[in-house]
Amino acid sequence: MKIIVIGGGIAGMSTAYHLAREDGIDVTLIDQTHEGQATAAGAGIVCPWISERKDNQAWYELARGGAHYYEALVERLTEDGEDRWGFKRVGALAVSEDETELDDIEKSARDAKQTSPELGDIKRLANEAAKDLFPPLGDGFGAVHLSGAIRIDGRQLRDALKRAAIKHHADIRQGEARLAKEDGQVNGVYLEETFHPADHVIVAAGAWAPELLAPVGVTLPIEPQRGQIVHLQIPEADTSKWPMILPRTSYYMLAFDDSRIVAGASRENGTGFDYRQTAGGVREVLESALSVAPGLAQSTLYETRIGFRPVGPDHLPFIGCMETPKGLSIVNGLGPSGLTMGPYAGKLISDLTLGKEMGIDLSPYHPERFDK
Ligand code: FAD
Repeated sequence: MKIIVIGGGIAGMSTAYHLAREDGIDVTLIDQTHEGQATAAGAGIVCPWISERKDNQAWYELARGGAHYYEALVERLTEDGEDRWGFKRVGALAVSEDETELDDIEKSARDAKQTSPELGDIKRLANEAAKDLFPPLGDGFGAVHLSGAIRIDGRQLRDALKRAAIKHHADIRQGEARLAKEDGQVNGVYLEETFHPADHVIVAAGAWAPELLAPVGVTLPIEPQRGQIVHLQIPEADTSKWPMILPRTSYYMLAFDDSRIVAGASRENGTGFDYRQTAGGVREVLESALSVAPGLAQSTLYETRIGFRPVGPDHLPFIGCMETPKGLSIVNGLGPSGLTMGPYAGKLISDLTLGKEMGIDLSPYHPERFDK
């Protein structure tokens, strides 16, 4: 069976990797490597258990499942000879100046632990103890520490999946793909002017998917949401074990091994694919970071990354096989949680396409749910 995957971000690479591991499946992935690929800009926080979005059951099911799936994925990648997958359990400090808010966070974490023991130990920390773990943190912030929170380097994980897929004989190509359709069935892809026939095509094209799908009569209500994210460096600091910082807002901080702190991120709707670092975007992110971690004021401004999150109207992903046209599946709409859900979503769409048992009801994520 010949399957073509379009899009080489976290969703597409995971899909191609899982398909390539199956016997008898011939996989090609085509990626246009757009500027602003969300995976390349993503911060890398995987800590859904205390999210305020937890009340949305369908969202939480995928996010929790995605976080849970990481252990199995890392095992698989290790079997495939990979050791640089950009995954580390560094833990999280959920911070607040308000003790009542910390009570709520602690309760939320303890509730979540019943179904997700991998979130690790939960500890309430006073300001000094929290600062021992993350020295730039401001005075007055207490914290709830979750030892099992995961940090992902999206670029490294994407590249590990790609190398492992190639080991399983996936063919990875660069360029712009266009869908081909005949008699109500997607039957292949044009890469530049060459037609590549396929039994099935999976579109994992992120925020660019609507323009790819329109010519075959599919309207996918996805919009790009621009995210600007600032990378700072604290010269000579060993940040490799610092936990991520999660205030009760949409902003956050995350440390990486090379003395780097990532502070994110703007969530800008209506920008289209305007790939620019803006004064307002950078100010917004820095103001928020410095209000929580004033100790970062003397860090070096290293770079700003820009990515376009694929966001749908109900903020739920699209994962499923299309009724019309046939021969087409979609994995998209991962929004601000795609590094959490993406590897799992790729496995799910691969299993669904091959008719395998999945252990999850995918109907809330059906790509045609807005068509009725
Ligand atoms: P993308 O990574 O955008 O990949 C889509 C790919 O499709 C691109 O490479 C593009 O070139 C290709 N493509 C499009 N059209 C075509 C075509 N016609 N032919 C060939 N190829 C095509 N998530 C978390 O869980 N935790 C976080 O901390 C986090 N932080 C984030 C911070 C920022 C600033 C941003 C922007 C995102 C963040 N996310 C986070 C979200 C996450 O990064 C995204 O949800 C996820 O990367 C989306 O992956 P994707 O594969 O669907 O899309």
